[in-house]
Amino acid sequence: MRIVRTRQELHQSIKSLEAGSIGFVPTMGYLHEGHLALIQKAKEENDFVVMSIFVNPLQFGPNEDLTAYPRDEKHDLKLAEEQGVDILFLPNVSEIYPTPLSTTIHVEKRVDVLDGEKRPGHFDGVATVLFKLFHLVMPNRAYFGQKDAQQLAIVEALVEDYFLPITIQRVETLREADGLAKSSRNINLTVDERKEAPIIHQALLAGKKCILDGVEEETTILAEVQKTLGKVNEKVDYLALYEYPSFKAVTDFSSTLILAIAVQYEKARLIDNELIKRGEENA
Ligand code: AMP
Repeated sequence: MRIVRTRQELHQSIKSLEAGSIGFVPTMGYLHEGHLALIQKAKEENDFVVMSIFVNPLQFGPNEDLTAYPRDEKHDLKLAEEQGVDILFLPNVSEIYPTPLSTTIHVEKRVDVLDGEKRPGHFDGVATVLFKLFHLVMPNRAYFGQKDAQQLAIVEALVEDYFLPITIQRVETLREADGLAKSSRNINLTVDERKEAPIIHQALLAGKKCILDGVEEETTILAEVQKTLGKVNEKVDYLALYEYPSFKAVTDFSSTLILAIAVQYEKARLIDNELIKRGEENA
């Protein structure tokens, strides 16, 4: 595995690869099995895998967890090497943002709901850094987790809008044995919060069952989720049902839907979702 920290080194090491396809896995590090699933899929579908680890300040709001975001470079290097990553790009902030931006990317669609609404500017930061990383790596395919479904839909639209010659591949959410979605942020849960957190996924599954059983009243469906959540309701930042991938209000219950939730714990904000399509076990 080549470890590169500058744009120049990245460029050289990509140039030195033999001819073949490149799968790209952008991450913020503190790697867990969710990230590894992305690497595995990228390995299966490409000749080479490039991974980036960059905690992007542009996508964190002023009161968010940028400084508390967990980091462990040594652990990440070991896992990336074991998984067979070919090139690992670990830039520092000034490598990605050498000068203040003259041009920014502003996401227009799908940002009036969920994390777009709750975290103003977040997806502008995500789209801007990915636009930069895509240009630096020039991959054939890029891999994103369904856990960040709003991000995934926004990246698909970015690629379409700007004719980027990259295929975006979706990877299903990897979970702990008790159903909690794997996340770098889980390390910031207290012992009690960690015990409680699997209820988030159980509640989504209760809502999903309701829809698959034919319920078409949004309030009934959300009430079912809230019933399972119990006292966790007090910590819910958002809970909503939309059509997917448009993130518009549901008008047709037989289309693909997303039931999405964010829960604010003391030092960790967790998000999760279920994609739902009637007649299909997995949407
Ligand atoms: P992050 O490092 O949290 O920015 O995540 C990097 C990529 O890994 C994103 O595309 C995420 O959607 C994806 N990812 C994070 N957690 C999971 C998970 N539990 N299962 C699958 N993909 C994930």
